Amino acid sequence: MTSAPDSADCLFCRIVAGEVPADLVVSTDEVVAFRDISPVAPIHVLVVPREHRPDAAATAADDPAAIGRLVAAAAEVASHEGLDDYRMVFNTGPGAGQSVFHTHLHVLGGRDLAWPPG
Ligand code: C5P
Repeated sequence: MTSAPDSADCLFCRIVAGEVPADLVVSTDEVVAFRDISPVAPIHVLVVPREHRPDAAATAADDPAAIGRLVAAAAEVASHEGLDDYRMVFNTGPGAGQSVFHTHLHVLGGRDLAWPPG
């Protein structure tokens, strides 16, 4: 079990609310997509549901359809960015590299992406 901040302390809630600046790519009633502040690929966008949950597993448990909508939004972002090949990543838990405990889907592309990831 990870210690998730509540939404008042959550950085991505503050970005969603427009209280913290971000380089927005898409904003809809349901999701906000913005460029990662520390990109690890030429295209690196985070797709974030507006509703606060700590990780993708929690979102899937509470609202499975929201995961489908998040993936669909990420595919639209990839298309908008001109990507044919790209990677979608949910880091889930600190040991897997999750550092922000608000569900987010990384969209990575613009270079060859090695497998397995580190
Ligand atoms: O999967 P993880 O939780 O590590 O992803 C969080 C991402 O949020 C990181 O890639 C980090 O660079 C990004 N970030 C950001 N803007 C911030 C703080 C973090 O894009 N202000």
